[in-house]
Amino acid sequence: MKTDLRYAVSTLKPLGRLLVNTDNISTWEHDTKTLPFSCRRLRRKYRMFAKKYLEPIALEVDGDIEHFDPLPVLRAAGREGLLSEAMFRPVGSGSLSAMLFSGGLTFPIALKGEELMSACGGLGLLILDHELGIAPIMLAGDLFQFFKWLGKIAYANLHGEPCPVAFAITEPSAGSDVEETEGALKARLMTYAEPVEGGYRLNGRKVFISNGAVSKYVTLFAAMKGEGIESWTCFLLDKEMKGFSVGRHERKMGQRASDASELILEDVFVPGSRVIGKLRGGWALNRNVLVYSRVGVAAMSLGIARSALEKTVDFCRTHSLGGKRLIEYQDVQLSIADMMIDVSAARGMVWQAARSTKPYQAATAGAKVFASDTAYRVSNLAMEIMGDYGYVHEYGVEKALRDARLTQIYEGTNQVNRLAVIEWQFDSELAQTVY
Ligand SMILES: Cc1cc2nc3c(=O)[nH]c(=O)nc-3n(C[C@H](O)[C@H](O)[C@H](O)COP(=O)(O)OP(=O)(O)OC[C@H]3O[C@@H](n4cnc5c(N)ncnc54)[C@H](O)[C@@H]3O)c2cc1C
Repeated sequence: MKTDLRYAVSTLKPLGRLLVNTDNISTWEHDTKTLPFSCRRLRRKYRMFAKKYLEPIALEVDGDIEHFDPLPVLRAAGREGLLSEAMFRPVGSGSLSAMLFSGGLTFPIALKGEELMSACGGLGLLILDHELGIAPIMLAGDLFQFFKWLGKIAYANLHGEPCPVAFAITEPSAGSDVEETEGALKARLMTYAEPVEGGYRLNGRKVFISNGAVSKYVTLFAAMKGEGIESWTCFLLDKEMKGFSVGRHERKMGQRASDASELILEDVFVPGSRVIGKLRGGWALNRNVLVYSRVGVAAMSLGIARSALEKTVDFCRTHSLGGKRLIEYQDVQLSIADMMIDVSAARGMVWQAARSTKPYQAATAGAKVFASDTAYRVSNLAMEIMGDYGYVHEYGVEKALRDARLTQIYEGTNQVNRLAVIEWQFDSELAQTVY
């Protein structure tokens, strides 16, 4: 007697067969097929880019970061249009139809985040951090600045002159404090702007800035001299500015292909035209940036989780124990099923949050927490299943675990993101909205 699922489906009448899916394709293909045509094309494009440019060098770069030159990767990403999607064609490479049919700007970023990070956490961050860097310019909503700066940046990236933008809020004594409402009131800031003729003079330090060393521009937040975070203002700084230098680079546990660096400001003159958004409007702008960008981090975490899952399945198919392939053991199958369920659940949350035309705080912060915890749990399980081999660099799952750990920290630790979920809920209760 035939017992398999596909045979069972084939016995149905054609009308019944319309109601069940018999396609013998991967989960990735299934999920891709649910997308509007323009988004399917984007998802395939990102996957192909990741397979061609990132996957082949991922382990080597992670193992020998001292000799890694990020420029060729950034140049390739720029030429393929991955660093200029904020501007639609013909100025940039953004797909208007993908944005319109998926519901919002963040969905293409989520697709890109998953695909690039599934090839390499560090190289993925090297490319994706740019989305965070330009987010203040996008959200400030000033059309003049939008075209002036993003037009120039998109053009340079498309024409082989990598022009990534970093994002700098963190200071030596202010990490969570600049990401969460209550902490902000007590934040001890040390980066200040002083009004001078024609602009501002900036002094201070930022730390742990992703791509701090490789970026051409930085959107950097500073308080007015003698005032607190209520005076925070966003400035667009050029690395070439006099008095602006890069200090210490952190020795990172994971996502190593992207540097985390200290930025030092010593009497840096910034023209008034480089104030992004409103003067003293930086705190509000930063809050909006985090709401918008956390869904990107959620998608990046999802990519790491998926890579750990894929590597585990490959391993279990090819490695045997006691004369039987690992994949044939039922307890291994149960663990892999758990990993698949976790990854699918994370994708559901990420896509749901990213598809919203206007992403909202509880959805993006919640997706960030769930997906990054999933990435950590799944890569840990991958190491457990693979035993000794999981601990070895060349199999890639110990790297996934190291890469995953950072997603629980940046863009606000998961504790701070949980507070963001609650904050939204309290506000909703005030508005008498049910969830
Ligand atoms: C590799 C790396 C890259 C980064 N990239 C960037 C970047 O590009 N740009 C940038 O600006 N920043 C960046 N950061 C900074 C990052 O966002 C901060 O490190 C992060 O927000 C945590 O801040 P902190 O390290 O000061 O921790 P702290 O704020 O000192 O937190 C310490 C602990 O206290 C907990 N905690 C804090 N407040 C609360 C609270 N109210 N309730 C409960 N628990 C709380 C935290 O969850 C954490 O466990 C990066 C950090 C790293 C490690």
